[in-house]
Amino acid sequence: MIPPLARRFVAGETEATALEHARQLNQRNVGAILNLLGEHYHARPPADRDADIYCQLVEDIGNTDLNACVSVKPSQLGLDAETGVFRANLERIVETATAQGVFVWIDMEDHTTTDVTLDAFETLAREHEGGVGVCVQANLERTPTDLELLATVPGKVRLVKGAYDPPADIGFADSQRVNEAYRSCLETMFESFEDGVAVGSHDPAMIDYAADLHEEYGTDYEIQMLMGVREDAQTDLARERAVWQYVPYGGKWLSYFYRRVRERKENALFAARALLSG
Ligand code: FAD
Repeated sequence: MIPPLARRFVAGETEATALEHARQLNQRNVGAILNLLGEHYHARPPADRDADIYCQLVEDIGNTDLNACVSVKPSQLGLDAETGVFRANLERIVETATAQGVFVWIDMEDHTTTDVTLDAFETLAREHEGGVGVCVQANLERTPTDLELLATVPGKVRLVKGAYDPPADIGFADSQRVNEAYRSCLETMFESFEDGVAVGSHDPAMIDYAADLHEEYGTDYEIQMLMGVREDAQTDLARERAVWQYVPYGGKWLSYFYRRVRERKENALFAARALLSG
C-alpha cells in the first residue's frame, strides 16, 4: 500500500485509483494525463504487459466522460529490449486509444532515445492525424532543429526543460542557459505550430511568457504540471486556460516518489514533516 506521504505525488497503485483521481481533477477543471509507472524493461514480457494495461486503460477512459489521456515511456514499452518491440507496443496503444478518442502522449527519455522516439511519433501522428503528442527537451542543442520538423507534423508537442543530464557536447546543464533555450523554443512553437503547444513546466516565469506569446500569436496552448507540484496554481490557472496534470500511478511508485522528494527542498521538508507527524 502507498503510504499517505507518497500519495501527494502518486495516484494509488491501480487503474481504479488513477481514474478516481482523474475524476476529482476534472471537478477542478483540470485534465488528467495518466502514467503507469515503469521504465527500462530489458525483456519483452513486461513491456507487452504494460502495453496491455495501457490498452485496457484507454478503453476504460473511452467508456467514461472523463477528460483524461495517457503518457507512455519508450523504455517501458520495450525500447531497451528492441526498437521493434517499442514501436509495436506503441502502435497498438495508439490504435486502441484513437478508436476511443483518447489522446496518447509519448514521454522523452535520455538523449540516446530522441531519434527513435521522434521517428515513432512522426509515423503515428501522420497516420492518426493528431491523436498523439511527444515531449521535447529544451536542454538539448538539437531541439530547435527538431521543432522545425515537428511544426510540419500533426499532433501536439510538450516542451519541458529536460529531466536527464545530457553530455556537454550536445546539451547544457546551466539553469540560466536552459531557461533561455526554453523561452526560445516556446517562441518557435507559438510562432509556427498549428496543433497547439503544451507548456510542461511549473516555472511561473515560463508560464507567464507562454501567456504573452499567446497574446501575440493567438496559438492555442495548454499547461501541464505534475501531480503534487503547485496544485493550487493548477486550479487557479485552470480558470483561464487548459491545464493538465501528469498523474503517475502503479506498483512501482517508490523510486518515483524518492525522485520527487530529492529534487526540491520543499518536497523533502514535506516528507520530513509527514514522517514526524505520522
Ligand atoms: P524548475 O526549473 O525545476 O523550477 C523553476 C521554478 O518553478 C521554481 O523556481 C519554482 O518557482 C517553480 N517550481 C518548480 N517546482 C516546484 C515545486 N515543487 N513547488 C513549487 N514551485 C516549484 N522531462 C523529460 O525529460 N521528459 C519528459 O517526458 C517529461 N515530461 C514531463 C511532463 C510534465 C507534465 C512535467 C511538468 C514535466 C516533465 N518533465 C519531463 C520534467 C521536466 O523536464 C523538468 O525536469 C521539471 O518539470 C522541472 O522543471 P520546471 O520547468 O518545472 O522548473
